Amino acid sequence: MCGIVAYLGEKNAYEIVIKGLQRLEYRGYDSSGVAIQKDNSVNVYKQKGKVQDLIDFAKNKDTKGNLAIGHTRWATHGLPNNINAHPHQSSNGKISLVHNGIIENYSVLKKELEQRGHVFKSETDTEVLVHLIGDIHNNGKQSLFDSVRLALNEVIGAYAIVVISDDNSDELIAARKSSPLVVGLGEGEFFCASDATPIIEYTKNVVYLEDGEIAHISLKNGLKLKTIGNQNKTPYIQELEMHLETLEKGGYEHFMLKEIYEQPQSIMDSMRGRFSVTKGKVALGGILDFEEKLINAKRLIFVACGTSWHAGLVGEYLFEEIARIPVEVEYASEFRYRNPIINEDDVVIAISQSGETADTLAAIKLAKERKATLIGICNVVGSSISRETHCGSYTHAGPEIGVASTKAFTAQVTILTLMSMMIGKRKGTISNERFNRLLVELKCYS
Ligand code: GLU
Repeated sequence: MCGIVAYLGEKNAYEIVIKGLQRLEYRGYDSSGVAIQKDNSVNVYKQKGKVQDLIDFAKNKDTKGNLAIGHTRWATHGLPNNINAHPHQSSNGKISLVHNGIIENYSVLKKELEQRGHVFKSETDTEVLVHLIGDIHNNGKQSLFDSVRLALNEVIGAYAIVVISDDNSDELIAARKSSPLVVGLGEGEFFCASDATPIIEYTKNVVYLEDGEIAHISLKNGLKLKTIGNQNKTPYIQELEMHLETLEKGGYEHFMLKEIYEQPQSIMDSMRGRFSVTKGKVALGGILDFEEKLINAKRLIFVACGTSWHAGLVGEYLFEEIARIPVEVEYASEFRYRNPIINEDDVVIAISQSGETADTLAAIKLAKERKATLIGICNVVGSSISRETHCGSYTHAGPEIGVASTKAFTAQVTILTLMSMMIGKRKGTISNERFNRLLVELKCYS
């Protein structure tokens, strides 16, 4: 989940938001964007790549205004490109939104919204949310705050969002569930951000939103909090004592420690929407079309390097035990330089955090020439491995800064667990009782 910054006050909002996005760059991201409100309209600028690319793009454009939202994206649904970058807008262009997280039930909502005439521009799950808000808002028949609140009642998943409209220069709406969001209270100005780093140089007074809370922020009426169930809440204002450097690392001594503690969240994000205890089912959408190939595979070959190779070793235990398919775990750098025996019945599973590991990429190209079925497990949407493979599953662990992998590894093991359960269930190699018991155990972590 990547970065959000928003500003409402009397200063140039674009400059503050851009500076804030640069403060969040340490989190890693693939694209960025801003929406700036001015004179009953909103200017949206988005660019793939670094925040500097966005600055260059917006250089001679109109960036004036006192209300703006900004985003650094880590793609979970749809390639990292200019169109999929946030902010996204409602069909009539009146409402703009930035989102961190994953909307789990986006495909169901998308179908309904398309039937109601909404046209989607991006491949993101996020765009569903802004169209849904726009649909409820219905050109102002419902207040923006209630439209956001009601829309969030329809949504399953994780989100931190900030919303503005083109015709109100004094209204910021922010909400969160399972993805952090903090509101900064300055002198005659407000800030929102996914962590306090972009805020701390302006004010130390902050309110951390709780799950299921939605904030209405305006210069005239201040900060008002409700639950998405419409109950009033009293904001709890905290005084931050942390320094910028500590904040960037979330209070931890270094990124690796922070990422170790992020594991429950990344495991949860990797499982989100992919199994149901009540339906007794695991469904990894990305590999459904190739499920038969996996079921009929004579053997599986995992190709990977480093930590991902270790995830493969765990995968070997899982697949042999649960799905009863023989597994070979190969070091990609050895595999690619041998003359390995691979044929059409083989399924090769490439595991890589970045999806760019050169040896793993070369190994799957070799396997492709020999007609094997290729499955990718990676963390970066649109990466080379995700493009070269026939199908796959993303891990959704978020950016990993630490060189020694932690949360990316556990997310890989999570996907391998789900995949082996899905295939084992279809093959009948795992008893219903054990399958259901494992589902209940997984549920405890989600
Ligand atoms: N799921 C959203 C997307 O893919 C948001 C990703 C993020 O948290 O940056 O656009």
